[in-house]
Amino acid sequence: MRGKLVVGNWKMNGGLASNAALLQALVAGWRAEPGRAIAVCVPFPYLAQAQAALTGTAIAWGAQTASEHRSGAYTGEVAAPMVAEFGCRYAIVGHSERRHIYGETSAVVAAKALAVLAAGMTPIVCVGETLAERDAGTTEDVVLQQLEAALAAVGEAAAKLVVAYEPVWAIGTGRTAAPGEAQAVHALLRARLARAGAAEIPLLYGGSVKADNAGALFAMKDIDGGLIGGAALQAGDFLAIARA
Ligand code: PEP
Repeated sequence: MRGKLVVGNWKMNGGLASNAALLQALVAGWRAEPGRAIAVCVPFPYLAQAQAALTGTAIAWGAQTASEHRSGAYTGEVAAPMVAEFGCRYAIVGHSERRHIYGETSAVVAAKALAVLAAGMTPIVCVGETLAERDAGTTEDVVLQQLEAALAAVGEAAAKLVVAYEPVWAIGTGRTAAPGEAQAVHALLRARLARAGAAEIPLLYGGSVKADNAGALFAMKDIDGGLIGGAALQAGDFLAIARA
């Protein structure tokens, strides 16, 4: 049976003191249960802090991106093997903010997924359509093309991915996809993943998930949990979502 996974994406938020309080509250509040896992993806400078606070607990941690290059003259970039040295289980790749603000193409996202796998971590590959794409009726094409690029790059390692469907119009906007709307896209992604031998991987939904809408979303057949932005910054909210 597929397990449930809820991952917090802190984005560019935090500070040593507030992180310490948040991590401590998560550790105190999270009881490990079979088939339910949580993780936090923190800014690079706080990976060591997350590692120190979460080692030996039931909470995993990860990064929010990683370079597709192993090392070299890429000023400002952080390589996947560097991130792995801090005990990360996950690295998000292809978050819509990376795609749309920093111009990461699906080819770059696919190369990043490969680099993350090569470093022994699990890539959380994000896909999702913009509002214009949804309105134009191209949601299915967009998300399948984004997924296709990653699948082509990773080949038989598809079963080691986590995939997150995050409609761009729902991220940080307070507007959530209706559970049925999200499920329809998840079913499509699941069918494509099944053909790649990856039917059982966690398929997360992201986009303004809150404690009061998480239950309805996570009850959908093909939604295995969530990628949580804003609500991951408050321990109470994040834990309530994780328990939903
Ligand atoms: C995200 O950053 O992946 C996200 C889903 O953000 P939010 O929950 O704030 O919409």
